[in-house]
Amino acid sequence: MANKDYYSVLGVDKGASDDEIKSAYRRLAKKYHPDLNKTPEAAEKFKDINEAYEVLGDPKKRANYDQFGSADGNPFGAGGNAGGGFSEFFGGGGGFSDIFSDIFSAFGGGRSEKARVKGQDINIAVNLTFTEACFGVTKNITIGRLEKCSACKGSGAKDGKEFSVCPECNGSGRVRYQQNTLFGTTIREAGCPKCNGSGKIIKEKCSVCNGKGVQKVNKTIQVKFPAGIDNGQTLKMRGEGNSPAGNGVNGDLNIKITVSPHKILVRKGNDLYLDLYLPFTTTLLGGKVEIPTLEGSYTLTIPELTASGTVMRLKNKGVKELNRESRGDLLVTIKAETPKSLDKQTKAKLSELAEMIGDNSYIKYNNFLKNK
Ligand SMILES: [Zn+2]
Ligand SMILES: [Zn+2]
Repeated sequence: MANKDYYSVLGVDKGASDDEIKSAYRRLAKKYHPDLNKTPEAAEKFKDINEAYEVLGDPKKRANYDQFGSADGNPFGAGGNAGGGFSEFFGGGGGFSDIFSDIFSAFGGGRSEKARVKGQDINIAVNLTFTEACFGVTKNITIGRLEKCSACKGSGAKDGKEFSVCPECNGSGRVRYQQNTLFGTTIREAGCPKCNGSGKIIKEKCSVCNGKGVQKVNKTIQVKFPAGIDNGQTLKMRGEGNSPAGNGVNGDLNIKITVSPHKILVRKGNDLYLDLYLPFTTTLLGGKVEIPTLEGSYTLTIPELTASGTVMRLKNKGVKELNRESRGDLLVTIKAETPKSLDKQTKAKLSELAEMIGDNSYIKYNNFLKNK
């Protein structure tokens, strides 16, 4: 950590204001927080960022650092991190906790300062039928997840009470230690690494969870899939993931949705599409045809002289919009079908018809020819 340029760690200028430093720190801490960033280098970066902010975020320390910092090592080094992991940033650390609770509330968790650790998320995939996705459905889903051990109430100690006072911190949960720096000896305080700040250690382990405080259980959860949910979307159920070992909040259950296609209707967003193949005579003469919709069969009136390729929009016959009352539309594309074969008699009749209708009916095409 010696000679580290804290300004470049936070990506700010030497003349940056306190606000600029704070906002750079918030942005980076959020980006590299190990709860949110699972890349291997995140933890190290996160540590560096905190170390830099601990100095630059404090006007006195910053002034000292500006004067001496890069000259001969780092008088405010990261020694306090020994063994404590990230807990020190959450548990003690004074000025950090408010920033972290801000970050967490920005992620919707609303966690308190005491929330040190989040359990692992659980990711599963669920397939819905086309209709289930359009109208919504409630399903019971069984997952295996870590829950607080019931025998020890998550404490990891036998019967939840076989603890003794932590010898390292004498039960205070905090340890103080000396640090020798350029400016002399300073006293620092941090969460006790031996007991993780709880002040007590397990005397006898809970035999059910072997002291871990959590155990794997099969849990059936009622999941409400809202109407309008679509293929590829993820339903997040906060707090339905794994419980962490020790204090903290549960992870989330992330349900990735796949939706089976409909046999005829095609969904794009909240609109439905139907290619409607009709005998060419129906497109000419018009008529009534039965078409499939989400609510079953619907009688569609085809007007006389409907050109092949015409799109008819049926309002509100699409899929309900997620979390809203409105619905998409059903767009029916008319496709005139040519007969597969013609017998002699039909052919003769058609020739007669062709003559009767004549070229003049095809106004656009005739104009095109004339203009050529
Ligand atoms: Zn237990
Ligand atoms: Zn302790």
